[in-house]
Amino acid sequence: MTTAPTIAYFSMEIGLEPSIPTYSGGLGMLAGDTIRSAADMGLPEVVVSLLHRKGYFHQRIDETGWQTEQAVEWAVNDYLEEMPPRVIVEIENRKVQVRAWKYNVAGAGGENVPVYLLDTDIEGNAPYDRTLTHYLYGGDDKYRLCQEMILGIGGIRMLRALGCHDLNRYHMNEGHASLLVLELLTECRTARGNGAQIGKEDINAVRRQCVFTTHTPVPAGHDQFNLDLVHQVFGRANPMQGHEQEFCCEGLLNLTYLALESSHFVNGVSKEHREVSQQMFAGYRIESVTNGIHVATWASKHMQELFDHYIPGWREDNASLRSALSIPRAEIWQAHQAAKKELLESGSDLWLNTPQPPLEASGTSGMKAAANGVPSFSILDGWWIEGCIEGITGWAVGDSNHNNSKSKEAPVQDNALDAQHLYHKLEEIILPLFYQQQERYIDVMRHAIALNGSFFNTERMLNQYVTKAYFK
Ligand SMILES: *Cc1c(COP(=O)(O)O)cnc(C)c1O
Repeated sequence: MTTAPTIAYFSMEIGLEPSIPTYSGGLGMLAGDTIRSAADMGLPEVVVSLLHRKGYFHQRIDETGWQTEQAVEWAVNDYLEEMPPRVIVEIENRKVQVRAWKYNVAGAGGENVPVYLLDTDIEGNAPYDRTLTHYLYGGDDKYRLCQEMILGIGGIRMLRALGCHDLNRYHMNEGHASLLVLELLTECRTARGNGAQIGKEDINAVRRQCVFTTHTPVPAGHDQFNLDLVHQVFGRANPMQGHEQEFCCEGLLNLTYLALESSHFVNGVSKEHREVSQQMFAGYRIESVTNGIHVATWASKHMQELFDHYIPGWREDNASLRSALSIPRAEIWQAHQAAKKELLESGSDLWLNTPQPPLEASGTSGMKAAANGVPSFSILDGWWIEGCIEGITGWAVGDSNHNNSKSKEAPVQDNALDAQHLYHKLEEIILPLFYQQQERYIDVMRHAIALNGSFFNTERMLNQYVTKAYFK
């Protein structure tokens, strides 16, 4: 890295490589894509997550209906470099040692973003503490709270130990990381002299530095912990001492609430998700930054070759994919057929997605399809409300006038009606186009790349974070 990092990105999961099981799905993939774009853009960023030495539980249901969970073992040393520092986090009055492993994300222009994965499986730690960085989303409330202490509190301490003192933005990717706020407050308080209480000026100073992205419209997706458990786990090192009213609500420590209270910029992940989140978190100002994908990761090699030929520079400037409209139809079709042949059976001419509104906060798989010239045919929810231009970039299942509707009321879900619309549109409009007017179908494919690939990417997304949240 040529510049000292100024932005720290914290995420409970991150998709770095398919063989590193430190992610479970969309949230982790988004974190990975975000960091790949940050590296391409040469943003001065550093990332903190947990090691997840045994990965994300693979759940299997056996013939008797019994659920079993399998750990995924992976060779940490093959991918990561151990860092020298050790930091301590106190859990239940035990001193838990934490170390970090480094993974470098290399950008298209040669710049790197370091990712530090925290690990407590160290000789000398108590047996329970050694398991704390084993499983992504495994275990009970106590295990989760301990993990979140390692991520938030241990993460800040590790960054300091690694020499990152001048960070000026802390981006919490979902509420799991928000205990970092308590460590930043402790730092502010101790800088003013031992024993000082947390003051308004500390809270304001922390708020200026923190950015929070919420990802789920499902209330159960927001971590909250009973105060008895919190007292037990925090022990005598309780960083909230004397200030629980400020951070707790209804007798619970709610990590989403903590993040909302402590951030100067809060956003949902699509325009629609902003509306839903604004209703869930009335009293806070919620903005929107629609998610994207890292195009060079998700475009097939055949499409990449085509882009390299017709749109040189697209890797550093995703917006230039708008020129896909001038790629000859025959070559788009050829590249698509070659990619489809390789994928054999997951190969798709049309991306069908049927979420239950408003639960698809953004959705990114349809963006990955678009970058490959595959149009979406989806229920209007999440990003597709912004990305769908009927018959141009793809098709809506159901009412395609959603964009023009000024109604604040939740859309009425009628699965039977949606199914009827879906088969009708598929049979009457989409299939005839695909089989009988191939040139027009390929035009939709070109628009999927040119209008949606050029916009629904993490480069555009990060540029919005930079101007709206990081450097403001
Ligand atoms: C993109 C991706 C997801 C997320 O897809 P959504 O449409 O956002 O639900 C989940 N898992 C993997 C492996 C992905 O690549």
